[in-house]
Amino acid sequence: MSAEQRLSDHERALYARQIRLPGVGESGQLRLREAKVLILGAGGLGSPVGLYLAAAGVGLIGIADPDKVEISNLHRQVVHGFDTLGLPKTISAAEALGEINPGLKVALHPEGFTVENAAELVARYDLVVDGTDNFATRFLAADACVLGGKPLVHGSVLRESGQVGVFLPKAGCYRCLYPVIPDAASVPTCADAGVFGATCGVIGSWMASEVIAVLLGKRVSSRLLVIDVAAGTSKLLALAADAACPCCGSAPSIRSLEKDAYAPTLCSTQALMSETPLEVTVEEAQRLLAGPNPPILIDVREMDEYAVCRIEGSRLIPMNTVPARLAEIPQDVPVLVQCHHGGRSMKVTQFLRSKGYARVSNVKGGIDAWSLKVDPKVPRY
Ligand SMILES: [Zn+2]
Repeated sequence: MSAEQRLSDHERALYARQIRLPGVGESGQLRLREAKVLILGAGGLGSPVGLYLAAAGVGLIGIADPDKVEISNLHRQVVHGFDTLGLPKTISAAEALGEINPGLKVALHPEGFTVENAAELVARYDLVVDGTDNFATRFLAADACVLGGKPLVHGSVLRESGQVGVFLPKAGCYRCLYPVIPDAASVPTCADAGVFGATCGVIGSWMASEVIAVLLGKRVSSRLLVIDVAAGTSKLLALAADAACPCCGSAPSIRSLEKDAYAPTLCSTQALMSETPLEVTVEEAQRLLAGPNPPILIDVREMDEYAVCRIEGSRLIPMNTVPARLAEIPQDVPVLVQCHHGGRSMKVTQFLRSKGYARVSNVKGGIDAWSLKVDPKVPRY
């Protein structure tokens, strides 16, 4: 046995409690050291998966995530911290994993997991962990693993429950369970539904256990675990390959990764929000207000300002009364928000968006710009 095929004394000490387990031993620890695992998403699930795999002595961990660390991530994405706010998640996660195991090799894929790089990335690793939160990437990962013949450990969380899927090659894939990508509008996301960080910890830790079991050769069939943290229950479902599966079946329709098949399935609110500009010019506002489906125009100035001048048809809801008067602002129609110069109305626009108003825009420059550029009859002050 050469030195490369043996554990060092340092490694024996580091992994002593794990090596002692039945089915691990020195050979199992060596298998982990040789293993290359790709984690998709350094988020609520990717955090515990990454930390536990790094601590367990997995040799190479790849992290694919195109996002940066945001403050709303921190309550559940425990590899990141206040000191890495604004950094790419790949870098932030690599730092945390390196701290827990300095011997670990980490590969960063800040471009994320895309149709363009999926096949190549899957080929470079022994196993893929999917901790992403959108259906497009989830199905892309599932299909890329089937086509590449690699095992996939998948996890998802919603509110206080979640699931962990283990999909081994030729033993039943994600599409055997879910043949087509659902319409995202029909499925709540974490952003809509909310999630506890600890629930991500439960599901992510369970995913890490499954990854280690697969790497050690302890899994012979695909399986799905459904875990309800609130009820304190879990259910294990054995999966079998479905001959009619569009990806791994006997006459599959999915034979390669086609870009159109994995278009981002934004939920309808997010899609509308991204289509609606945050700000419009006064000229654009005038065009919209004169159009066939005019938006509601809300003036968020004070009553004495409104008495001086107003845009015809506007409705006065002073800024500080907006939170209490949300019921007066319909959610399902376009809304323009206007004030004196555009500052207060931008705050209200962003507040309304945070409350789920997807089709709301600020009027840039406010009524003052309106007087200057659209209607000089409106007095300035
Ligand atoms: Zn299948």
